[in-house]
Amino acid sequence: MRRVSILGATGSIGQNTIDLISRAPDEFRVVALSGGGNIAQLARDARALRAEIAVTAYPERLQDLRDALAGSDVRAAAGPEALVEAASRPADWVMSAIVGAAGLAPGLAALQQGATLALANKESLVCAGALVLDTARRAGTRILPVDSEHSAVFQALIGEEIDAVERIVITASGGAFRDWPLEALRSATLAEASSHPNWDMGQRITIDSASMFNKALELIETKEFFAVQPDQIEVIVHPESLIHALVGFRDGALMAHVGPPDMRHAIGFALNWPDRRDLPVERLDLAQVGQLNFRAPDDRRYPALNLARAVMRRGGLSGAVFNGAKERALDAFIAGTIGFLDMAAVVEEVLTRFEAQADLMDAEMTLETVTRTDHLARTWADSVMAERAGR
Ligand code: NDP
Ligand code: MG
Repeated sequence: MRRVSILGATGSIGQNTIDLISRAPDEFRVVALSGGGNIAQLARDARALRAEIAVTAYPERLQDLRDALAGSDVRAAAGPEALVEAASRPADWVMSAIVGAAGLAPGLAALQQGATLALANKESLVCAGALVLDTARRAGTRILPVDSEHSAVFQALIGEEIDAVERIVITASGGAFRDWPLEALRSATLAEASSHPNWDMGQRITIDSASMFNKALELIETKEFFAVQPDQIEVIVHPESLIHALVGFRDGALMAHVGPPDMRHAIGFALNWPDRRDLPVERLDLAQVGQLNFRAPDDRRYPALNLARAVMRRGGLSGAVFNGAKERALDAFIAGTIGFLDMAAVVEEVLTRFEAQADLMDAEMTLETVTRTDHLARTWADSVMAERAGR
C-alpha cells in the first residue's frame, strides 16, 4: 500500500485527488489530510479515507474539527506548525495543493521526509524555486509537476534531453475577459472575474486566470522547474484549452500535449508515474473539436506577463516579492477595495520599491528569508494601496 497525504485536500485540486484515490481504496493508505475553513468537508473525507490525522490551517477552528471527528480514530490538529508536522509524517507521495505561499513550508517538510511531491502549489516554485529543488535533491526525492502546462511539458520531455529543447510554449485560455474591450476591464466585477470559460478551479486561481497573473506565475514556474532561459519560454492564447503546452526542439519539431481540461489527468499522471494507467477523463473526439485557435497575448490587456518577465530576469527573492504583492492585491480585489486593473499596478509599484533595495532581493534564499520577504511584500502592497487610494 502506498502512503499518501493531501495538503489542501478540501480545495479543487485536493478534491480531484481524493476522487482518484477513492477509486482504488486497496492501493492507498491516507496519512494526513489538510484544509482551511471547510471543516465539514475535511472531516467527512478524513473519516471516509480513514486518515491518521486531519489538520486545519486555522487554530481557532480546532474545536470544530475535533467535534466533527468525534467518535472516529482520526486525530485532529490545527495551525501552520501542525501542518508542517503532518507533512513530515512518513508518506510515499504527498499532494501539495494549498493555495498561496502558505503551501511552501509544508511542501518543503514533505520533501525533507523523502516523499515524492506532486506539486500543484506553483507559488512554492515562484517564491523559492532554488530552495525547493535543492531540498528535493538533498533528500534524494522527486517533484512531479501537477500544473497542467508543466505536467504537459514534463510528459513531452520523457526520453529527451533538456539541452535539445529550443523553446517551451505554455498555453493560456485568456480567462474570463479575453474578448472584453480593454476599457471595460477597469470596472470588471468580482463575480465576472470568478468564472472561467474552460476550467473549474478555486476562486483565486480563476481570478488570476482572468488577469493572467496565473500565467505570469507559470512563466516563472517553468523557468525554475525546467531550468531554461526566460527567453526560451513563450505564452500563447489558446481559447479551447485543449493543448496545454508544447515543447520545441532544436530540429524544429514541436511536441504538443493535447487533452480535455480536466485536472485529474495531471494529478493521475503524477499519482501513477512512472506508469500510465486508466484515468476517468474524457477522450477527445478531434472531429468534434474541429479546430484549434491561437493568438498572441496582448501586453496591454495582460501587464502581469511583462512583470513576470522582469522577475525572471531579476531572480533571487524577486519571485517572493512578486507573489506576496500579488496575493495581497488579489485579497484587496476580492474584498472590493481595489479594481481589477489595479492589481497589476500595485504589484509593479511594490517591485519597483524593492528594486531600490537590492540587498533585500539578493539575500541568501532560505525558508526564513523567503517568509520574511513575503511578509514585507504584503506590507508594502498594503502601503502602496493606501497611497493610491489617497491620490
Ligand atoms: P482552492 O482554493 O480550491 O483550495 C485551496 C486549498 O488550500 C483548500 O484546501 C483550502 O482550505 C486550503 N487553504 C487556503 N488557505 C490556506 C492557508 N492559509 N493555509 C493552509 N491551507 C489553506 O485552490 P485550488 O485547488 O484551485 O488550487 C490549489 C493550488 O493548486 C494553487 O496553488 C493553484 O495555483 C494550483 N493549481 C490549481 C489548479 C486547479 O485546477 N484548481 C490548476 C493548476 C494549479 P479550505 O478550502 O478548507 O479553506
Ligand atoms: Mg496551469
